[in-house]
Order: sequence, then C-alpha cells, then structure tokens
Amino acid sequence: VNFFMQPIRRLTEFTQQLQDGMTGFERFIEVMNISPDIVDKPDAIELNNIKGDIVFDNVSFSYDNGEGAVLSNVNLTIEEGKTIALVGPSGAGKTTLCHLIPRFYDINSGNIFIDGLNIKDIKLKSLRQNIGLVQQDVFLFTGTIRENILYGKPSATEAEVIDAAKKARIHDFIENLPNGYDTYIGEKGVMLSGGQKQRISIARLFLKNPPLLILDEATSALDNETETMIQRSLEELSKGRTTLVIAHRLSTIKNADEIIVLTARGIEERGNHEELLRKNGIYANLYNSQFKSLIN
Ligand code: ADP
Ligand code: MG
Repeated sequence: VNFFMQPIRRLTEFTQQLQDGMTGFERFIEVMNISPDIVDKPDAIELNNIKGDIVFDNVSFSYDNGEGAVLSNVNLTIEEGKTIALVGPSGAGKTTLCHLIPRFYDINSGNIFIDGLNIKDIKLKSLRQNIGLVQQDVFLFTGTIRENILYGKPSATEAEVIDAAKKARIHDFIENLPNGYDTYIGEKGVMLSGGQKQRISIARLFLKNPPLLILDEATSALDNETETMIQRSLEELSKGRTTLVIAHRLSTIKNADEIIVLTARGIEERGNHEELLRKNGIYANLYNSQFKSLIN
C-alpha cells in the first residue's frame, strides 16, 4: 500500500469573480456551499496575534450523510511553533481533520482550542484570517493571475506579489506569458497545469503569511525539482510557526517535531521519526517497505 503517494484529485476552478475584501476562505466556503449554518456567536471574539497552540480535545466528527464517524475521540496537541506531520492511508480522515480547524464543519462532540480559546467562540473571519491552507484541490477563479495571488492579501503591493510568486517558483513562468501578471486564467484565458495552479496557490500562501499553516499534500502536483525548491521555501515559512502538514515526502516527515499516524481506527501512533522506528509498528513497517527506497 503506497499510501503516501495519493493520487492528485481533480483540480477545480472557481468561475466567480473576486469581490472586494472577500478572503479566500469566504470564497471557498461560498462556492463549496459548506455549512452555511456556521455563523458567529453574538459575543464572538476577535483573534489577534495568535501564537498557534492547537488542541483537539476528544473530537468526534461525522459528515451529515449517515456514514458514521470519520474521526472518533481524537486527542491531539500541537504546540506553538511546532510542525506536526499527519500520515496515514487514503480515507483515514487527514483532510477532514485539517478542515475542522478553520471550522468548515462543526464537530459533533469534544472541543478544538486555539491558544486556549474554543474555536466556536472566535469570529469566523478572524479565525480563518490566521490560517493558511494549501489544499490538494487547488481553487483558482476566473480572473487574472495577479487577482488570484492577491486573494491571499488583497491589500498587498506589487512588490509583495512578485516576491510571493518568486518564492513559489512561478514568477518566471508568469513573466513569460504575453500579459504577465495580467494574464487571464480560466475558461476564456490561459489553461494552467496542475503544478502551475498549485504554485499560484502557494504564492497566495506566501503573500498571506499567516501564523498558522495547514499544508495538505501542498506540493503533490509538482515535478520533483520544483517540489524540492518550493519545499525549501515552505520549510523557511514554517520555521517558528505552527504547521500541520499532511506529508507525502520522507524529508518532510523526518523533519517534523511529531508524526501522527492516522488510520480508520484513529490515531494509532505518534512520535518522531526515530521513536516510531524503534516502536517497530505501522510507521516502521511503512518506512521499511517504501520509504527507504525513496531518494527524498
Ligand atoms: P484523507 O484525507 O485521509 O484521505 P478524508 O478526510 O478526505 O481522508 O476522508 C475521510 C472520509 O470522509 C472518507 O471516507 C471520505 O469519503 C469522507 N469524506 C471526505 N469528505 C467528505 C465530504 N465532504 N462529505 C462526505 N464525506 C466525506
Ligand atoms: Mg486528503
């Protein structure tokens, strides 16, 4: 079972225009029609300058489809500034777990805390402004490349946009397009490859520069060389900031402060690379059966 190499999902495109001041998450929520019933409490609080301590306290969650729990009694602590790698087979619930932090869905029981605050008590907009999410499915909308990158921070300057694009290794490609950053993408514009879309979404993340990073197979659509370069920039970005990464690369997993092995039965193992190898369980088995032979 080569579960660290998940197939790339269908890349989806937004067809809506960017509206002033609308953040990426709001657009995502709107287009995906996710839980419109999740709204601010009347006395919800603003979350400023977060440190990024995340706690899952006995969290259980099932989608509203009668299929049963995807996550049951999950307990997880991510300390401020640490990088946690989440590994496990396809369908284990890794992406779902990531989506609970920006509150795309509300949990059935338990609590999720950020810096000791229950996320249900935090203003949704401020919660989501503190989180940078790069997903397997890249969401670009019809518009110019500049607009798509600005989505991460609508007030950014041209220099900041270019800097972000350089870090995401997409600047040179953009510069070589006939209309550069004004190139229209989507239905009537330039068609981008999966890797190019992913790099635009990563440029967006660099521009947003959020205190909390969630990288869900963030570089899965890239060729090896580009991936290695972007990985370096992402590692730089994640230094000192709380990062939850669903990893498919051994180097990322090895460097994580903690590795969480999530399967359909829940969190089965946790520890760093050496600890889990010594444990000689699921992770060790995976490492011996497939990672050892991987160059990265
Ligand atoms: P992973 O990221 O580990 O591959 P997912 O979180 O994507 O796992 O999926 C966990 C389970 O939840 C799977 O059984 C999947 O089919 C189901 N699932 C994922 N997203 C949805 C959704 N939006 N609605 C209903 N079921 C979902
Ligand atoms: Mg997933």
